[in-house]
Amino acid sequence: MTKKTPEDFEKMAIAGACVAAIHAATRQAAVPGTSMLELDAISAEILRERNCRASFLGYHGFPATICASPNEVIVHGIPDDYRLREGDIVSIDAGAIYEGWHGDAAFTVAVGAVPEEVATLLEVTEQALWNGIVQARHGNRLGDVGHAVEETAGPYGYGVVRDYIGHGIGRQMHEAPNVPNYGVPGKGFKLKAGMAIAIEPMFNLGTQQSVVLEDGWTVVTEDGKLSAHFEHTVAITHEGPKVLTLPEPKLVTELDRVGA
Ligand code: MG
Repeated sequence: MTKKTPEDFEKMAIAGACVAAIHAATRQAAVPGTSMLELDAISAEILRERNCRASFLGYHGFPATICASPNEVIVHGIPDDYRLREGDIVSIDAGAIYEGWHGDAAFTVAVGAVPEEVATLLEVTEQALWNGIVQARHGNRLGDVGHAVEETAGPYGYGVVRDYIGHGIGRQMHEAPNVPNYGVPGKGFKLKAGMAIAIEPMFNLGTQQSVVLEDGWTVVTEDGKLSAHFEHTVAITHEGPKVLTLPEPKLVTELDRVGA
């Protein structure tokens, strides 16, 4: 991974703001009756408006703008004509490229009312992301990040997905290093200012085991239970972790709460 300059991070933050706009629009549109293809079209329009390109479209042949992953789909769902129903959850993962620089982020939203255990799964997975972000500091190691994520799931007994993990990001969507959602504090790759990583916990209500469907992309839970996914692109700076996939870049200086 090559060291990024503050100017590089600024470009990544423009891509990141586009991703944040996609998140806001698809979150609003995630109501009963909306199809996955409609969410994809909304996302493509926002990319056009903001002079960005989709990171995912054409990536190893991926055929759509976003990944739309309902219910038991963990990640990499190909948008199709499935229409959301009351009580569903859906994960939206979006990546944008601005002047060659990538931003990548994901969230999961409930469609209408969901049982309390499902709402809790979403809240805890998002909190795990922020707990990981807080650890993404100059001089810390990826074991600190992964441990913070995994530890958040512990009391709930969630399956913490290990087959799919976060990644370095910059001029490529996926760069070294790998960013696992588990780890040993003080161990692993050392983080330095000028790096950028995508942290992306995926927690399941049941087993962590996953299966890839025949389309070669869609990853589902082996037991068919629900899965949640939250992700941000984070710059490592001397001032602290800086989240680049929000409407404005956000420097994280203390333990951030969900929705901060
Ligand atoms: Mg990612």
